[in-house]
Amino acid sequence: VAASSQPQAIDLTHMFIPHLRKHQKSPFKAVMGNPTLEMINMAGGVPNPSTFPLLQIQAKVRTSPSLNSEQDGMLSLEHTQLNGSTESLNELLQYNDGRGMASYCRFLRQFTQTAHSPKYADWDVIASCGNTDSIAKAVSLFCQQGDHIIVEKYTFPGALSNLEFAKIKPVPVSMDNEGVVPEALDALCSGWSGSSPLRAIYLIPTGQNPTGATMSLERRKAIYATAQKHNLVIIEDDPYYFLQYGPMQDSTDKPSVADMRKQLLVPSLLSLDTDGRVIRLDSFSKILAPNLRCGWITAPQYMLDRLQILNESTILQPSGLTQGVISRMLNDVWGIKGWIDHLCTLRADYAARRNLFVQMAREHLAGMATFTVPTAGMFLWMKIDLGAASADSTAMPRLLEAMKKCGVMMAPGMPFNVGTDDTATSVPEYYLRAAFALADTDMFAPALKRLGQAIASIRDSVL
Ligand code: PMP
Ligand code: PLP
Repeated sequence: VAASSQPQAIDLTHMFIPHLRKHQKSPFKAVMGNPTLEMINMAGGVPNPSTFPLLQIQAKVRTSPSLNSEQDGMLSLEHTQLNGSTESLNELLQYNDGRGMASYCRFLRQFTQTAHSPKYADWDVIASCGNTDSIAKAVSLFCQQGDHIIVEKYTFPGALSNLEFAKIKPVPVSMDNEGVVPEALDALCSGWSGSSPLRAIYLIPTGQNPTGATMSLERRKAIYATAQKHNLVIIEDDPYYFLQYGPMQDSTDKPSVADMRKQLLVPSLLSLDTDGRVIRLDSFSKILAPNLRCGWITAPQYMLDRLQILNESTILQPSGLTQGVISRMLNDVWGIKGWIDHLCTLRADYAARRNLFVQMAREHLAGMATFTVPTAGMFLWMKIDLGAASADSTAMPRLLEAMKKCGVMMAPGMPFNVGTDDTATSVPEYYLRAAFALADTDMFAPALKRLGQAIASIRDSVL
């Protein structure tokens, strides 16, 4: 994949938790070696594929506008795969290693090259069951019970519960409307005197959950430089990367797919990574469907070797059927062009939703909420002004109760909050995260009117 002139990733083996520092062979390879064709394989507890009762899997896929109309979007997985690049149904259903099906990984390797052009030679991809599992596995390479990991001050609760379960302590770093503040990260690392060294930062650079923040290119460069200075691994959890739609448009017309094609994506941290210190987590959850439970991880080979072992002791790999359907869809029905069209269609849809939701929020929440307009993802993060009720510790639970009565639900900021840091003030701050992906767009105005009513009722209820 990579140009041979590129440097190898630097060796960060010493950053792994102690028992991963020594390279282990994957249990599969350790037991089986590399079987030759002449070998009669009796090594594994492997069922005979002639017993598999699934004979054919057919699926109908939405076709992309740019594909010619003869393409009907039908795909089929069969025991003898006659054409196309995907494995046969028998191969998809049989045991396989911890890296993922070859055709699935091949497409994602090519796509990663197209989207990010990694800057070091020995990178690769591995199949994942989505980013929730990938976070747990990526973190567990570098942190174990009692260790610390840097996280954004507000972050994805799934990541936090992962850390809590593993008894790894999150250390919050300040954010502004572009995400992590580089100077704050630098100060945190420089002044650190905790019981374990800071080896990694977990962050969500695009359409951040919950704040909606997207790091600019300059911000990404500054964060990467700070990570280099303090020798941090960056766990780049980026499920909203391909949902970038740019600045606010005041028109209510839906942007075209062609408009989106013209608008460049902010480069990922992976694409800036010359050292091999970024582990990038991608998920199909927001760009195909969440319960496919599929994604991919991009990192230096020697890190993927460890992740392969983790896979082989937990999930093995995502379901072969799911990988097979995705692989056939991407490789043989859509191709890279159809796939990029699909992503641009999503971006246009999200852009239209963001434009309308922000217009409605400005109209119905004037003087009650402030926010930064998101340029990616599905979240509007609103700071709510509860007026004189702000000082009352029951204000937020009462607001949520009032919202329930008015018939609107949004996520309170509290479960995303990792804790106090240097920006903590004595005046409590109240946040709501509104996701504008699911509701019908004609529900946007009523939802925000209801929120306005609920906020007003709390402000008015001050004794
Ligand atoms: N437990 C036992 C005792 C097994 O023999 C096997 C399969 N060899 C497994 C677990 C793995 O099962 P699965 O394929 O469901 O992960
Ligand atoms: N990471 C972030 C930042 C998310 O917002 C989400 C979804 O809500 C996830 C991970 C979960 O992704 P997946 O469905 O791939 O496990």
